[in-house]
Amino acid sequence: MAERVDVAVIGAGPAGLAAAIAARERGAERVLIVERAEQLGGLLPQCIHNGFGLLYFGRDMTGPEYEKAFIGRAQSLGVEARLETMVIDLDAERGITAVSRRHGYMKFKPGAVVLAMGCRERARGALGIPGTRPAGVMTAGTCQRFVNVEGYMPGSRYVILGSGDIGMIMARRLTLEGAKVEAVVEIMPWPGGLIRNEVQCLHDFGIPLLLEHTVTFIHGEERVEGVTVSRVDAERRPIAGTEKLFPCDCLLISAGLIPENELSRKAGVELDPATGGPVVDQNRQTVVPGIFAGGNVVQVHDLVDWVSWEAEAAGRSAAAYADKGRLKAATGVRVVPGKNIKYVVPQYVSGKDDVTLHMRVERPGLKATVKVGGVLWKRYRTVRPSEMIILEVKGQAMKEAGIKGELVVDCELRGGD
Ligand SMILES: Cc1cc2nc3c(=O)[nH]c(=O)nc-3n(C[C@H](O)[C@H](O)[C@H](O)COP(=O)(O)OP(=O)(O)OC[C@H]3O[C@@H](n4cnc5c(N)ncnc54)[C@H](O)[C@@H]3O)c2cc1C
Repeated sequence: MAERVDVAVIGAGPAGLAAAIAARERGAERVLIVERAEQLGGLLPQCIHNGFGLLYFGRDMTGPEYEKAFIGRAQSLGVEARLETMVIDLDAERGITAVSRRHGYMKFKPGAVVLAMGCRERARGALGIPGTRPAGVMTAGTCQRFVNVEGYMPGSRYVILGSGDIGMIMARRLTLEGAKVEAVVEIMPWPGGLIRNEVQCLHDFGIPLLLEHTVTFIHGEERVEGVTVSRVDAERRPIAGTEKLFPCDCLLISAGLIPENELSRKAGVELDPATGGPVVDQNRQTVVPGIFAGGNVVQVHDLVDWVSWEAEAAGRSAAAYADKGRLKAATGVRVVPGKNIKYVVPQYVSGKDDVTLHMRVERPGLKATVKVGGVLWKRYRTVRPSEMIILEVKGQAMKEAGIKGELVVDCELRGGD
Protein backbone atom coordinates (compact mmCIF):
# COMPACT_ATOMS: atom_id res chain seq x y z
CA MET A 1 0.00 0.00 0.00
CA ALA A 2 1.51 3.34 -1.04
CA GLU A 3 1.98 5.95 1.71
CA ARG A 4 0.28 9.31 0.99
CA VAL A 5 2.27 12.54 1.28
CA ASP A 6 1.50 15.95 -0.14
CA VAL A 7 4.93 16.74 -1.56
CA ALA A 8 7.81 14.26 -1.89
CA VAL A 9 11.27 15.65 -2.56
CA ILE A 10 13.96 13.33 -3.94
CA GLY A 11 17.39 14.40 -2.64
CA ALA A 12 18.34 16.38 0.47
CA GLY A 13 21.00 18.70 -0.91
CA PRO A 14 20.50 22.47 -0.86
CA ALA A 15 17.90 22.09 -3.62
CA GLY A 16 15.86 19.44 -1.81
CA LEU A 17 15.98 21.32 1.50
CA ALA A 18 14.94 24.63 -0.09
CA ALA A 19 12.13 22.95 -2.04
CA ALA A 20 10.80 21.18 1.06
CA ILE A 21 10.86 24.40 3.13
CA ALA A 22 9.08 26.36 0.38
CA ALA A 23 6.45 23.62 0.00
CA ARG A 24 5.70 23.69 3.74
CA GLU A 25 5.62 27.49 3.78
CA ARG A 26 3.20 27.44 0.83
CA GLY A 27 0.89 25.22 2.91
CA ALA A 28 1.66 21.59 2.02
CA GLU A 29 0.83 19.58 5.13
CA ARG A 30 3.04 16.56 4.81
CA VAL A 31 6.38 17.12 3.08
CA LEU A 32 8.82 14.23 2.90
CA ILE A 33 12.46 14.29 1.73
CA VAL A 34 13.90 10.96 0.61
CA GLU A 35 17.73 10.86 0.67
CA ARG A 36 20.10 7.99 -0.07
CA ALA A 37 22.94 9.37 2.08
CA GLU A 38 23.11 9.07 5.86
CA GLN A 39 22.78 12.82 6.40
CA LEU A 40 21.02 15.88 5.02
CA GLY A 41 22.94 18.48 2.98
CA GLY A 42 23.92 16.75 -0.28
CA LEU A 43 27.35 17.94 -1.36
CA LEU A 44 27.62 20.70 1.21
CA PRO A 45 29.06 18.75 4.20
CA GLN A 46 32.23 18.08 2.17
CA CYS A 47 32.57 21.70 0.93
CA ILE A 48 34.38 23.11 3.97
CA HIS A 49 35.72 26.10 2.04
CA ASN A 50 33.99 29.49 2.05
CA GLY A 51 32.12 31.19 -0.80
CA PHE A 52 28.58 30.04 -0.03
CA GLY A 53 25.60 32.26 0.72
CA LEU A 54 26.99 35.62 -0.43
CA LEU A 55 23.82 36.31 -2.43
CA TYR A 56 21.22 34.42 -0.38
CA PHE A 57 22.34 35.44 3.12
CA GLY A 58 24.58 38.38 2.22
CA ARG A 59 27.54 36.81 4.04
CA ASP A 60 30.42 34.51 3.27
CA MET A 61 29.75 31.02 4.64
CA THR A 62 31.22 27.52 4.36
CA GLY A 63 29.16 24.68 2.87
CA PRO A 64 28.31 23.17 6.30
CA GLU A 65 27.26 26.62 7.64
CA TYR A 66 24.98 27.17 4.65
CA GLU A 67 23.50 23.70 4.99
CA LYS A 68 22.83 24.12 8.71
CA ALA A 69 20.72 27.23 8.15
CA PHE A 70 18.43 25.25 5.82
CA ILE A 71 18.34 22.10 7.94
CA GLY A 72 17.29 24.17 10.97
CA ARG A 73 14.43 25.79 9.02
CA ALA A 74 13.28 22.46 7.56
CA GLN A 75 13.23 20.83 10.99
CA SER A 76 11.37 23.69 12.64
CA LEU A 77 8.71 23.49 9.90
CA GLY A 78 8.22 19.75 10.49
CA VAL A 79 9.64 18.54 7.16
CA GLU A 80 10.02 14.76 7.41
CA ALA A 81 13.15 13.01 6.12
CA ARG A 82 13.81 9.39 5.25
CA LEU A 83 17.61 9.00 5.21
CA GLU A 84 19.70 6.10 3.83
CA THR A 85 16.77 5.54 1.51
CA MET A 86 17.33 5.31 -2.22
CA VAL A 87 14.54 6.09 -4.69
CA ILE A 88 14.77 3.37 -7.33
CA ASP A 89 11.69 4.13 -9.39
CA LEU A 90 9.39 7.03 -10.27
CA ASP A 91 6.47 6.69 -12.65
CA ALA A 92 4.49 9.22 -14.65
CA GLU A 93 1.65 9.11 -12.06
CA ARG A 94 4.16 10.23 -9.38
CA GLY A 95 4.43 6.78 -7.77
CA ILE A 96 7.75 6.49 -5.92
CA THR A 97 9.47 3.21 -5.04
CA ALA A 98 12.33 3.40 -2.53
CA VAL A 99 14.50 0.97 -0.57
CA SER A 100 16.44 1.25 2.66
CA ARG A 101 18.27 -1.10 4.98
CA ARG A 102 16.21 0.13 7.93
CA HIS A 103 12.73 0.51 6.39
CA GLY A 104 12.93 -2.07 3.59
CA TYR A 105 10.91 -1.61 0.39
CA MET A 106 8.57 1.41 0.32
CA LYS A 107 6.02 2.98 -1.97
CA PHE A 108 4.79 6.57 -1.83
CA LYS A 109 1.97 8.29 -3.66
CA PRO A 110 2.62 12.02 -3.35
CA GLY A 111 0.35 14.81 -4.54
CA ALA A 112 3.43 16.32 -6.22
CA VAL A 113 7.11 15.42 -6.58
CA VAL A 114 10.23 17.61 -6.66
CA LEU A 115 13.30 16.18 -8.37
CA ALA A 116 16.42 17.39 -6.52
CA MET A 117 18.93 14.62 -7.20
CA GLY A 118 21.87 16.90 -8.09
CA CYS A 119 24.77 15.81 -10.32
CA ARG A 120 27.47 13.22 -10.57
CA GLU A 121 31.01 13.79 -11.81
CA ARG A 122 32.30 12.67 -15.19
CA ALA A 123 34.82 9.91 -14.46
CA ARG A 124 37.78 8.33 -16.31
CA GLY A 125 35.56 5.87 -18.22
CA ALA A 126 33.58 8.71 -19.81
CA LEU A 127 36.79 10.41 -20.98
CA GLY A 128 38.48 7.27 -22.35
CA ILE A 129 42.00 8.18 -21.15
CA PRO A 130 44.44 5.51 -22.36
CA GLY A 131 46.90 3.75 -20.08
CA THR A 132 47.00 1.24 -17.27
CA ARG A 133 44.36 0.97 -14.56
CA PRO A 134 46.26 1.61 -11.34
CA ALA A 135 44.96 2.85 -7.98
CA GLY A 136 45.08 6.62 -7.55
CA VAL A 137 42.74 7.75 -10.34
CA MET A 138 39.59 9.36 -8.93
CA THR A 139 37.26 12.29 -9.38
CA ALA A 140 38.00 15.54 -7.55
CA GLY A 141 34.75 15.27 -5.57
CA THR A 142 35.64 11.78 -4.34
CA CYS A 143 39.03 13.08 -3.22
CA GLN A 144 37.27 16.00 -1.49
CA ARG A 145 35.13 13.55 0.44
CA PHE A 146 38.20 11.49 1.43
CA VAL A 147 40.11 14.55 2.65
CA ASN A 148 37.33 16.66 4.22
CA VAL A 149 34.97 14.00 5.59
CA GLU A 150 36.97 10.78 6.03
CA GLY A 151 40.23 12.51 7.05
CA TYR A 152 42.30 10.53 4.55
CA MET A 153 44.87 11.80 2.00
CA PRO A 154 44.77 9.57 -1.07
CA GLY A 155 48.21 10.70 -2.33
CA SER A 156 51.05 13.19 -1.97
CA ARG A 157 51.76 14.32 -5.54
CA TYR A 158 48.82 15.19 -7.80
CA VAL A 159 47.93 16.14 -11.34
CA ILE A 160 44.40 17.47 -11.82
CA LEU A 161 42.68 17.02 -15.16
CA GLY A 162 40.07 19.70 -15.80
CA SER A 163 39.85 23.18 -14.33
CA GLY A 164 36.27 22.93 -13.06
CA ASP A 165 35.57 24.58 -9.70
CA ILE A 166 35.89 21.32 -7.78
CA GLY A 167 39.31 20.61 -9.31
CA MET A 168 40.63 24.11 -8.56
CA ILE A 169 39.25 24.04 -5.01
CA MET A 170 40.92 20.66 -4.45
CA ALA A 171 44.23 21.96 -5.85
CA ARG A 172 44.25 24.54 -3.04
CA ARG A 173 42.93 22.14 -0.40
CA LEU A 174 45.58 19.49 -1.13
CA THR A 175 48.34 22.13 -1.14
CA LEU A 176 47.15 23.34 2.27
CA GLU A 177 47.30 19.72 3.47
CA GLY A 178 50.99 19.55 2.44
CA ALA A 179 50.67 17.77 -0.93
CA LYS A 180 52.31 18.91 -4.16
CA VAL A 181 49.97 19.73 -7.04
CA GLU A 182 52.12 19.51 -10.17
CA ALA A 183 49.59 21.08 -12.54
CA VAL A 184 45.95 21.60 -13.42
CA VAL A 185 45.53 20.50 -17.05
CA GLU A 186 42.68 21.97 -19.13
CA ILE A 187 41.82 20.93 -22.70
CA MET A 188 39.97 24.17 -23.54
CA PRO A 189 41.67 27.54 -24.17
CA TRP A 190 39.91 28.96 -21.08
CA PRO A 191 39.44 27.73 -17.49
CA GLY A 192 36.35 25.61 -16.75
CA GLY A 193 35.51 27.20 -13.40
CA LEU A 194 34.88 30.61 -11.88
CA ILE A 195 37.55 33.27 -12.26
CA ARG A 196 37.56 33.79 -8.46
CA ASN A 197 38.58 30.13 -8.03
CA GLU A 198 41.32 30.42 -10.67
CA VAL A 199 42.78 33.38 -8.77
CA GLN A 200 42.25 32.24 -5.17
CA CYS A 201 43.00 28.53 -5.64
CA LEU A 202 45.66 28.42 -8.38
CA HIS A 203 47.42 31.79 -8.85
CA ASP A 204 47.62 32.55 -5.10
CA PHE A 205 49.30 29.16 -4.52
CA GLY A 206 51.57 29.17 -7.58
CA ILE A 207 49.87 26.09 -9.09
CA PRO A 208 50.42 25.93 -12.88
CA LEU A 209 47.32 25.94 -15.11
CA LEU A 210 48.08 24.36 -18.50
CA LEU A 211 45.40 25.49 -20.96
CA GLU A 212 44.97 23.59 -24.28
CA HIS A 213 46.59 20.49 -22.77
CA THR A 214 45.25 17.08 -21.81
CA VAL A 215 46.35 13.84 -20.14
CA THR A 216 47.18 11.35 -22.90
CA PHE A 217 48.45 8.38 -20.85
CA ILE A 218 48.26 7.08 -17.29
CA HIS A 219 51.36 5.16 -16.11
CA GLY A 220 51.77 2.71 -13.22
CA GLU A 221 50.89 -0.90 -12.46
CA GLU A 222 49.62 -1.11 -8.85
CA ARG A 223 49.58 2.65 -8.25
CA VAL A 224 49.74 5.74 -10.48
CA GLU A 225 53.40 6.63 -11.14
CA GLY A 226 52.85 9.50 -13.54
CA VAL A 227 50.81 10.86 -16.42
CA THR A 228 51.75 12.03 -19.90
CA VAL A 229 50.40 15.48 -20.72
CA SER A 230 50.21 16.74 -24.34
CA ARG A 231 49.29 20.01 -25.98
CA VAL A 232 46.12 19.88 -28.13
CA ASP A 233 45.27 21.57 -31.44
CA ALA A 234 42.20 23.69 -32.22
CA GLU A 235 40.15 20.48 -32.69
CA ARG A 236 41.32 19.33 -29.22
CA ARG A 237 43.46 16.52 -30.68
CA PRO A 238 46.82 15.82 -28.95
CA ILE A 239 49.80 17.19 -30.94
CA ALA A 240 52.52 14.55 -31.46
CA GLY A 241 55.91 15.56 -30.11
CA THR A 242 54.51 17.74 -27.28
CA GLU A 243 54.26 14.90 -24.70
CA LYS A 244 55.67 15.58 -21.24
CA LEU A 245 55.79 13.16 -18.31
CA PHE A 246 54.51 14.45 -14.95
CA PRO A 247 55.47 12.08 -12.10
CA CYS A 248 52.59 11.83 -9.56
CA ASP A 249 50.78 9.26 -7.40
CA CYS A 250 47.24 10.58 -7.97
CA LEU A 251 45.28 11.81 -10.98
CA LEU A 252 42.15 13.75 -10.07
CA ILE A 253 39.48 14.23 -12.71
CA SER A 254 37.42 17.41 -12.63
CA ALA A 255 35.95 17.31 -16.11
CA GLY A 256 32.33 18.24 -15.68
CA LEU A 257 29.16 17.28 -13.87
CA ILE A 258 26.26 15.29 -15.27
CA PRO A 259 22.73 15.94 -13.91
CA GLU A 260 21.48 12.74 -12.25
CA ASN A 261 18.31 12.07 -14.29
CA GLU A 262 17.78 8.30 -14.48
CA LEU A 263 14.61 8.62 -12.39
CA SER A 264 13.38 11.55 -14.49
CA ARG A 265 13.73 9.42 -17.64
CA LYS A 266 11.75 6.58 -16.02
CA ALA A 267 8.92 8.99 -15.31
CA GLY A 268 8.87 10.21 -18.93
CA VAL A 269 10.33 13.64 -18.14
CA GLU A 270 11.76 15.28 -21.30
CA LEU A 271 15.46 16.16 -20.96
CA ASP A 272 17.25 19.06 -22.64
CA PRO A 273 20.37 17.72 -24.42
CA ALA A 274 22.19 21.01 -23.76
CA THR A 275 21.74 20.98 -19.97
CA GLY A 276 21.31 17.24 -19.38
CA GLY A 277 18.43 18.23 -17.08
CA PRO A 278 14.64 18.29 -17.42
CA VAL A 279 12.90 20.75 -19.72
CA VAL A 280 10.98 22.99 -17.29
CA ASP A 281 8.61 25.92 -17.41
CA GLN A 282 8.98 29.00 -15.24
CA ASN A 283 7.25 27.23 -12.32
CA ARG A 284 9.90 24.49 -12.69
CA GLN A 285 7.21 22.03 -13.75
CA THR A 286 8.49 19.33 -16.12
CA VAL A 287 6.47 18.01 -19.05
CA VAL A 288 4.97 15.43 -16.65
CA PRO A 289 2.21 17.20 -14.68
CA GLY A 290 2.92 17.24 -10.95
CA ILE A 291 6.65 16.53 -11.31
CA PHE A 292 8.84 19.58 -10.63
CA ALA A 293 12.63 19.98 -10.55
CA GLY A 294 15.23 22.32 -9.05
CA GLY A 295 18.97 22.68 -8.46
CA ASN A 296 21.79 20.86 -10.21
CA VAL A 297 19.48 18.16 -11.52
CA VAL A 298 18.09 20.89 -13.84
CA GLN A 299 21.31 22.71 -14.73
CA VAL A 300 24.80 22.79 -13.24
CA HIS A 301 24.83 25.92 -11.10
CA ASP A 302 28.06 27.62 -10.08
CA LEU A 303 26.55 29.28 -7.00
CA VAL A 304 24.55 27.43 -4.41
CA ASP A 305 22.40 30.54 -3.77
CA TRP A 306 20.75 30.09 -7.18
CA VAL A 307 20.25 26.38 -6.44
CA SER A 308 18.21 27.39 -3.40
CA TRP A 309 16.16 30.02 -5.23
CA GLU A 310 15.41 27.73 -8.16
CA ALA A 311 14.36 24.90 -5.84
CA GLU A 312 12.15 27.23 -3.79
CA ALA A 313 10.20 28.00 -6.95
CA ALA A 314 9.87 24.23 -7.60
CA GLY A 315 8.76 23.58 -4.00
CA ARG A 316 6.14 26.37 -4.02
CA SER A 317 4.74 25.16 -7.32
CA ALA A 318 4.66 21.54 -6.09
CA ALA A 319 2.67 22.60 -3.02
CA ALA A 320 0.21 24.52 -5.24
CA TYR A 321 -0.18 21.44 -7.45
CA ALA A 322 -0.70 19.12 -4.46
CA ASP A 323 -3.32 21.54 -3.13
CA LYS A 324 -5.40 21.88 -6.30
CA GLY A 325 -4.52 18.68 -8.17
CA ARG A 326 -3.08 20.66 -11.07
CA LEU A 327 -1.00 23.70 -12.01
CA LYS A 328 -1.47 25.26 -15.41
CA ALA A 329 1.66 24.70 -17.48
CA ALA A 330 3.46 27.99 -18.28
CA THR A 331 4.36 26.88 -21.80
CA GLY A 332 3.04 29.75 -23.91
CA VAL A 333 6.48 30.77 -25.18
CA ARG A 334 9.43 28.48 -25.98
CA VAL A 335 12.79 30.02 -25.04
CA VAL A 336 15.32 29.36 -27.79
CA PRO A 337 19.12 29.62 -27.37
CA GLY A 338 20.37 31.86 -30.21
CA LYS A 339 23.81 33.22 -31.12
CA ASN A 340 26.59 32.06 -28.72
CA ILE A 341 24.07 30.77 -26.16
CA LYS A 342 24.50 27.13 -25.08
CA TYR A 343 21.24 26.88 -23.17
CA VAL A 344 18.55 28.85 -21.38
CA VAL A 345 16.50 27.66 -18.36
CA PRO A 346 13.51 27.65 -18.11
CA GLN A 347 12.86 26.33 -21.57
CA TYR A 348 9.24 27.59 -21.47
CA VAL A 349 7.74 30.79 -20.08
CA SER A 350 4.21 32.12 -19.96
CA GLY A 351 5.19 35.32 -21.80
CA LYS A 352 2.98 37.29 -19.36
CA ASP A 353 4.69 36.96 -15.98
CA ASP A 354 8.09 38.19 -14.78
CA VAL A 355 10.73 35.50 -15.16
CA THR A 356 14.40 34.93 -14.34
CA LEU A 357 16.36 33.40 -17.22
CA HIS A 358 19.53 31.39 -16.49
CA MET A 359 21.92 30.85 -19.38
CA ARG A 360 25.46 29.99 -20.36
CA VAL A 361 27.45 31.18 -23.36
CA GLU A 362 29.21 28.83 -25.79
CA ARG A 363 32.48 30.79 -25.88
CA PRO A 364 33.97 33.64 -23.87
CA GLY A 365 34.38 37.17 -25.14
CA LEU A 366 34.57 40.85 -24.37
CA LYS A 367 31.94 43.59 -24.80
CA ALA A 368 28.96 41.25 -24.93
CA THR A 369 25.40 42.26 -25.62
CA VAL A 370 22.58 39.95 -24.59
CA LYS A 371 19.40 40.37 -26.60
CA VAL A 372 16.06 38.84 -25.61
CA GLY A 373 13.54 38.55 -28.43
CA GLY A 374 15.76 40.82 -30.55
CA VAL A 375 15.62 43.58 -27.90
CA LEU A 376 18.85 44.66 -26.20
CA TRP A 377 18.58 43.54 -22.58
CA LYS A 378 21.98 43.88 -20.97
CA ARG A 379 25.63 44.65 -21.75
CA TYR A 380 28.54 42.76 -20.17
CA ARG A 381 32.23 43.66 -20.18
CA THR A 382 33.11 39.94 -20.37
CA VAL A 383 31.19 36.67 -20.66
CA ARG A 384 32.55 33.18 -19.96
CA PRO A 385 30.98 29.70 -20.24
CA SER A 386 31.87 29.04 -16.59
CA GLU A 387 29.84 32.00 -15.31
CA MET A 388 26.09 31.74 -15.57
CA ILE A 389 24.28 34.81 -16.90
CA ILE A 390 21.10 35.61 -14.99
CA LEU A 391 18.54 38.00 -16.45
CA GLU A 392 15.32 39.26 -14.95
CA VAL A 393 12.74 39.72 -17.70
CA LYS A 394 9.51 41.55 -16.99
CA GLY A 395 6.26 40.06 -18.26
CA GLN A 396 5.09 43.56 -19.20
CA ALA A 397 8.18 44.04 -21.40
CA MET A 398 7.51 40.72 -23.17
CA LYS A 399 3.89 41.74 -23.75
CA GLU A 400 4.93 45.15 -25.10
CA ALA A 401 7.50 43.50 -27.42
CA GLY A 402 4.65 41.32 -28.73
CA ILE A 403 6.53 38.11 -27.96
CA LYS A 404 4.52 35.05 -28.92
CA GLY A 405 5.48 31.44 -29.60
CA GLU A 406 9.27 31.86 -29.39
CA LEU A 407 11.69 33.97 -27.40
CA VAL A 408 15.20 33.90 -28.92
CA VAL A 409 18.11 34.84 -26.66
CA ASP A 410 21.36 35.94 -28.35
CA CYS A 411 24.76 36.98 -27.05
CA GLU A 412 26.72 39.12 -29.49
CA LEU A 413 30.45 39.75 -28.93
CA ARG A 414 32.15 42.92 -30.07
CA GLY A 415 35.57 42.25 -28.51
CA GLY A 416 38.04 39.36 -28.86
CA ASP A 417 38.14 36.17 -26.81
C1 LIG B 1 33.45 20.62 -4.79
C2 LIG B 1 32.35 21.61 -4.89
C3 LIG B 1 32.59 22.90 -4.52
C4 LIG B 1 31.57 23.84 -4.58
N1 LIG B 1 31.84 25.11 -4.17
C5 LIG B 1 30.85 26.04 -4.16
C6 LIG B 1 31.10 27.36 -3.67
O1 LIG B 1 32.22 27.72 -3.28
N2 LIG B 1 30.07 28.24 -3.64
C7 LIG B 1 28.85 27.88 -4.06
O2 LIG B 1 27.94 28.71 -4.01
N3 LIG B 1 28.59 26.64 -4.56
C8 LIG B 1 29.56 25.71 -4.61
N4 LIG B 1 29.33 24.45 -5.10
C9 LIG B 1 28.05 24.18 -5.69
C10 LIG B 1 27.00 23.61 -4.76
O3 LIG B 1 27.56 22.82 -3.76
C11 LIG B 1 26.08 22.75 -5.58
O4 LIG B 1 25.62 23.57 -6.63
C12 LIG B 1 24.91 22.23 -4.75
O5 LIG B 1 25.36 21.31 -3.78
C13 LIG B 1 23.88 21.54 -5.65
O6 LIG B 1 22.76 21.24 -4.87
P1 LIG B 1 21.71 20.11 -5.22
O7 LIG B 1 20.82 19.99 -4.04
O8 LIG B 1 21.12 20.37 -6.54
O9 LIG B 1 22.58 18.77 -5.38
P2 LIG B 1 23.41 17.92 -4.33
O10 LIG B 1 24.03 18.78 -3.28
O11 LIG B 1 24.31 17.07 -5.15
O12 LIG B 1 22.30 17.00 -3.63
C14 LIG B 1 21.63 15.96 -4.31
C15 LIG B 1 21.20 14.91 -3.30
O13 LIG B 1 20.33 13.98 -3.92
C16 LIG B 1 20.58 12.70 -3.42
N5 LIG B 1 20.08 11.69 -4.36
C17 LIG B 1 20.41 11.55 -5.68
N6 LIG B 1 19.75 10.52 -6.23
C18 LIG B 1 18.96 9.99 -5.24
C19 LIG B 1 18.04 8.89 -5.19
N7 LIG B 1 17.79 8.13 -6.26
N8 LIG B 1 17.43 8.63 -4.02
C20 LIG B 1 17.67 9.40 -2.92
N9 LIG B 1 18.53 10.44 -2.92
C21 LIG B 1 19.17 10.73 -4.05
C22 LIG B 1 22.11 12.69 -3.27
O14 LIG B 1 22.54 11.70 -2.36
C23 LIG B 1 22.37 14.10 -2.75
O15 LIG B 1 22.37 14.19 -1.36
C24 LIG B 1 30.30 23.47 -5.05
C25 LIG B 1 30.08 22.16 -5.45
C26 LIG B 1 31.08 21.25 -5.38
C27 LIG B 1 30.81 19.83 -5.83
